[in-house]
Amino acid sequence: MLTVADADQLLATHGLTLSTETVPFAEARGRVLAETILADRDFPPFDRVAMDGIAIQFTALADGQTTYPVLAVQRAGEPIQPLSDPRGCIEVMTGAVLPSGADAVIRYEDLSITDGIATLTIPADMVRGQNIHRQGTDRRTFDVLLPAGTVLRPVELAVVASVGQTSVSVLKRPRVAVVSTGDELVDTHQTPLPHQIRQSNAYLLQAALRDLSIDASVHHFPDDIATITAGLSSLLATNDVLVMTGGVSAGKADFVPEVLGGLGIQRLFHKIEQRPGKPLWFGRSADAQRVVFALPGNPVSTTLCFYRYVRPYLQTAMGMSPEPPLFAQLASPVTFKPQLTYFTPARLEATPDGQLLANPLPGSGSGDFTNLTAADAFLELPANPHEFPAGTLVAAWPIG
Ligand code: AMP
Ligand code: MG
Repeated sequence: MLTVADADQLLATHGLTLSTETVPFAEARGRVLAETILADRDFPPFDRVAMDGIAIQFTALADGQTTYPVLAVQRAGEPIQPLSDPRGCIEVMTGAVLPSGADAVIRYEDLSITDGIATLTIPADMVRGQNIHRQGTDRRTFDVLLPAGTVLRPVELAVVASVGQTSVSVLKRPRVAVVSTGDELVDTHQTPLPHQIRQSNAYLLQAALRDLSIDASVHHFPDDIATITAGLSSLLATNDVLVMTGGVSAGKADFVPEVLGGLGIQRLFHKIEQRPGKPLWFGRSADAQRVVFALPGNPVSTTLCFYRYVRPYLQTAMGMSPEPPLFAQLASPVTFKPQLTYFTPARLEATPDGQLLANPLPGSGSGDFTNLTAADAFLELPANPHEFPAGTLVAAWPIG
């Protein structure tokens, strides 16, 4: 059987490669850039006035001149004007082109203007070039502004907008179907008979996928080989990823591994030395275009397997960096017997002195998903040792 580390390794080496698509700029928020964005001109594209005030020739000020006749006004958006008299000034506005011949801008705060004459009130501490944002000092034409692989946040979108792109090439999002199996399950709107339950895992998975901006379809099949085979066959034709729940353990009706194998999905692993979630199954098509995660159906197992393995895998496929686990100190001791990695739900709590505390919430086992509503994360406790005193620093995987 695989260890948790082995499973991580196999998932890392069997990634999913997504193709690219061009989307309108307005829909690019949160997407991952699949092209390089270059500067189409210098940034800034001209010597830009950085303060409202007057533009002068600095030599005059260095010679002790403190009054300057105002010759003209240069507003933002107007073509460049010359400073025709080196002893005069031009009133300039933030964002305007610096008048030719000028090489310093003095702020309105440091002068007064009366009858067309600007008088410096604080002539000290002035330097040549002040309050001018020189052409090309941020970036030069053809400099790389954003490399491929960049996640487009609002600040990156502003950069894309500034080079005039109305659409951008981004990585496609994976097409994902969520599939639950089980004869005992009815859908949420149905009334279960005494021996049935409403299926909830598929909706957990759909919502958790939506947190990754993936709109997954939801499907359910009874424990019948022919029905599962037909259903998965058609879903594999139109999806990149199947996230399944149920039917992967050692029960008499656990047909999922067999069906997937028959459909050409090669098993990369089945079963991890962990509790809960031991029967997790992962496979990929021979052409590496499709992957399937089959999660054990116990609701706590499904939840753990999604947040511990599926979510980081999909984030990597989408070109995003998966969040590493948090580290927290156990608020109370945890002991377990089996020689496997133990995951336990916990409530996290930030203390006033900046520590993160983890309060374990063992609940009543991997069927007790109502216990998860009080939890923020699963703690990952390695097989050795299996006694963890209070205060031990442990990895915590948030659950959304
Ligand atoms: P299985 O992995 O199919 O052996 O199922 C293990 C346990 O999880 C059983 O008690 C199932 O009834 C339950 N279970 C399986 N699938 C779901 C689901 N979609 N929603 C809620 N519980 C489920
Ligand atoms: Mg089942």
